[in-house]
Amino acid sequence: MRALLRFVLHMVCWMQSAVSTSAWAQKEPDPFHPDSLRATVSALSHDSMAGRWSGTQEAHRAAQYIAKRFVSAGLRRFINQRFLWYFEHTNGLRAANVFAVVPGRSKAGEWILISAHYDHIGTLETAASINAGFSSGGKDKIFNGANDNASGVAGLLALAQAAARDTTIERTVIFAAFTGEELGLLGSRAAADSLDVRRIVAHINLEMLGRPHTLPGGRPFISGSSRSTLLQILNETLAAADTSAAVRDFFQKDRFEQDQIFYRSDNYPFYQAGVVGAHTICGTSPVDVFYHTPDDEIETLDFEAMSVGLRNLYSAAGALFRGTATPIKPPRRRARN
Ligand SMILES: [Zn+2]
Repeated sequence: MRALLRFVLHMVCWMQSAVSTSAWAQKEPDPFHPDSLRATVSALSHDSMAGRWSGTQEAHRAAQYIAKRFVSAGLRRFINQRFLWYFEHTNGLRAANVFAVVPGRSKAGEWILISAHYDHIGTLETAASINAGFSSGGKDKIFNGANDNASGVAGLLALAQAAARDTTIERTVIFAAFTGEELGLLGSRAAADSLDVRRIVAHINLEMLGRPHTLPGGRPFISGSSRSTLLQILNETLAAADTSAAVRDFFQKDRFEQDQIFYRSDNYPFYQAGVVGAHTICGTSPVDVFYHTPDDEIETLDFEAMSVGLRNLYSAAGALFRGTATPIKPPRRRARN
């Protein structure tokens, strides 16, 4: 009799815990919700981060914030290292990239790299060293870098959160927040030198997702899009998942080729190291009025557009995550005669 009672009590407790677990799962916040993205951008672009100049205490705090977010989303350490990967540059800079991983199931040895740089150009003094001729008319001395590139990091963390819960991921997905980008792609170069890049089958770098450019369509574009079939893969995968006309050809070809964004962002060291499908997805025009000014503030960002773009990107990257598509060099078209 007692044994039966214990069994019944045990079952009741088990059922209660099962109910509360599923209730908790339902309540888990949507990583792509505009408010979730806003919260990340708000933390990273706050004045207390002092513009996240590489190697400063503030940039280090930003790195720790990103690492904590990776941990709370359930991501793992990448190849048993700590989350913060320090490197030293010959110019004296000592700073950390942040790495975390969602291990692949059946194709763990094939890696998809998703990245965004978290550093920015600091305060008036440091910014002047790279913004030649820039003078601030106002009192604001802090370059908050809300769009460049707190928005990209917000995207990175949202994608990481979604991937950590995804049970269909077959390839290993590496999430990297790079530093030293504004000093000349130093963090991504250090990473490309230290990783086994032959395993990287695609690299998607996120830049300035918060202020849509004003060219027709206004949608995110892919730098150097003609160099690989990544753009085609993303749009085809998205179209297969969502047949609505609203997402047709959602990701656009490089809208600003003359500005050479392909060579100016963290995809480039990986491309140089031999990763064919290494591109940057960017939302903003390179001649954006707030670019590298103290006015790159959170109020100028369009979180609804960011939310749509990131949700679509997650869906579009599905074929890469599942291992059913790999970007290659596009076949040369035969010359017509
Ligand atoms: Zn940037």
